[in-house]
Amino acid sequence: MPELPEVESLRRSLVPYIQGKKINSVEVILPKLVSGRGTKRVVNQAMADSFVNNISRKIVTGLTRRAKNIIFTFDDNSVMVVHLKMTGQLVFKPFQAVGKVTLISGGHPIELSTSELPNKHSYIIFYFENGTLFYNDVRQFGYLLHFSSLEEAINDGHFAKLGFEPLDDSFILKNFEVGLKRKTGNLKKVLLDQEIVVGLGNIYADEVCFMAKVRPNRLVKTLSKKEIKSLYEAINKIIPRAIELGGSSIADYLLADGSRGNYAREHKVYGRAGKECLVCGTILTKTVSGGRTTVYCKKCQK
Ligand SMILES: [Zn+2]
Repeated sequence: MPELPEVESLRRSLVPYIQGKKINSVEVILPKLVSGRGTKRVVNQAMADSFVNNISRKIVTGLTRRAKNIIFTFDDNSVMVVHLKMTGQLVFKPFQAVGKVTLISGGHPIELSTSELPNKHSYIIFYFENGTLFYNDVRQFGYLLHFSSLEEAINDGHFAKLGFEPLDDSFILKNFEVGLKRKTGNLKKVLLDQEIVVGLGNIYADEVCFMAKVRPNRLVKTLSKKEIKSLYEAINKIIPRAIELGGSSIADYLLADGSRGNYAREHKVYGRAGKECLVCGTILTKTVSGGRTTVYCKKCQK
């Protein structure tokens, strides 16, 4: 599942190609994806038709993000909220390659060998004036919803209960501290619930705890002021670094030379259970915390 750094990286890589550009038409191959956001969505053909009508011939004036939602704003101030969920993927194919870049892709990892477009998982297709944007989704849990305004999306319950954006100026240590004080349960669970700060999924929650030298299964009420500060600083280092590297699970530019790095190479604990700690050599411990597989160093983390 893409985490915030992957989604932000995708958003940033799409901006130069689609912001200010017109969508000539839209094709909805799987109406379920534009019919709501629950797991038991009823296909709504009327919604699919109005999705097409509302977005065709519109200009994308902005591409923003809230938590893992990508928000397209159009020239009539209406918006489209896109959530990739487990396996959603956005791929833009410009009519003309820009340098070596022939595809801009993010979300679910795409393999070059299967990058034929459209493919059998391409369910929504946006025909831009300068290229084509494909929404692919193997497991079909994602959604793309059109609202007449951002307010309407907010009133519909989108973005409810979401905490601070880690990159925003409002995410200050004090706010993080106050948020943690209100919580019970263990640290991993609290970081994953997104209510204090968004953007930490399973990968980055473990990495943040390691950098801060705090065990993910610690009860939040036992955290010292110093540990809270270390956690805060770790979030502020890891998230921007992961975005800079294009996230962990994707190559957002499919460059022929494969030159772009990615954050997976910098993982210290995630995916390394049973291997040696890169700091002290102790074998890393695997446990379940907050309902998710969790890896930490029992020597470095207290
Ligand atoms: Zn260690």
